Amino acid sequence: MKLQFLGTGAAEGAPAVFCQCDVCRELRERGEKEYHTRAQFLIDDAVGIDYPPDAYYHALRFGVDLSKLRYLLVTHSHMDHFYAHDFILRGYKYCTHIEEPLTIYGNEEVAKVFQECTRREMREEVANRIRLQVVSAFKPFVFGDNNEYQAIPLLAQHSKAETAFVYLIEKGETSYLHLTDTGRLPIETLDFLESAFKKKGKAVDFITFDCTFLYRTAGEVSRHMGLEDNKAMQTEFLRRGIADKHTKYAITHYSHNNNPLLETLKKAEEEYGYLPTFDGTTVQF
Ligand SMILES: [Zn+2]
Ligand SMILES: [Zn+2]
Ligand SMILES: [Zn+2]
Repeated sequence: MKLQFLGTGAAEGAPAVFCQCDVCRELRERGEKEYHTRAQFLIDDAVGIDYPPDAYYHALRFGVDLSKLRYLLVTHSHMDHFYAHDFILRGYKYCTHIEEPLTIYGNEEVAKVFQECTRREMREEVANRIRLQVVSAFKPFVFGDNNEYQAIPLLAQHSKAETAFVYLIEKGETSYLHLTDTGRLPIETLDFLESAFKKKGKAVDFITFDCTFLYRTAGEVSRHMGLEDNKAMQTEFLRRGIADKHTKYAITHYSHNNNPLLETLKKAEEEYGYLPTFDGTTVQF
């Protein structure tokens, strides 16, 4: 599985859209290589996780061909994870040479946001090539041109207004846990993963942690995590056989409030052994 981190910041980005704090000023000074824009991830060029307002910028900056995006898994409806207005442009006079449908998987709120954002300008012929599929917690679904992927939406600890998901994604023997946006995982999710990996007989290959708080500890009930929360989750995964010594970890979704400068992220890597992601970071596992 090839996993590309296209956007590695929290909702407001770092530097943040309207902010003039010292960290945001410093990041602007250092330039694009240290920007952390809004959350977007790409698997094997065709499978997306989340679609933020920065998707167009990511495509330009990293040479991503968005016409190849055929399957989009959405974690939740927050604006940094699902900017549905862009899909109006996937056809009609705005776009040629695209016949293949796009399937968007998400919760009911994601389906509602899609309707709200596209109802004014969406052309019928464009809408006809976009399928919205509402998915449910712990119910696996299969997708891909050759049905080569399976995803399972898992309950996140993130929102009272909707059922936010994190995902377990599998392709053949390879498995990936995508854990943003979430605080420490709910017990139902931990129990589900424990029994799933027990059945499989092989631990997860790669985990991406929400690390909005970096060196600040978010604690048991927060909607996001910091490094100590990631470590608590890692310990729990190892104890339950979800992860083992071969499992690799990355951190992402940093907030400008928590000093996400290069030196902080390098320090986090040295102290915790998690790969700090930057916009454009690509891993293979
Ligand atoms: Zn977010
Ligand atoms: Zn700031
Ligand atoms: Zn969110």
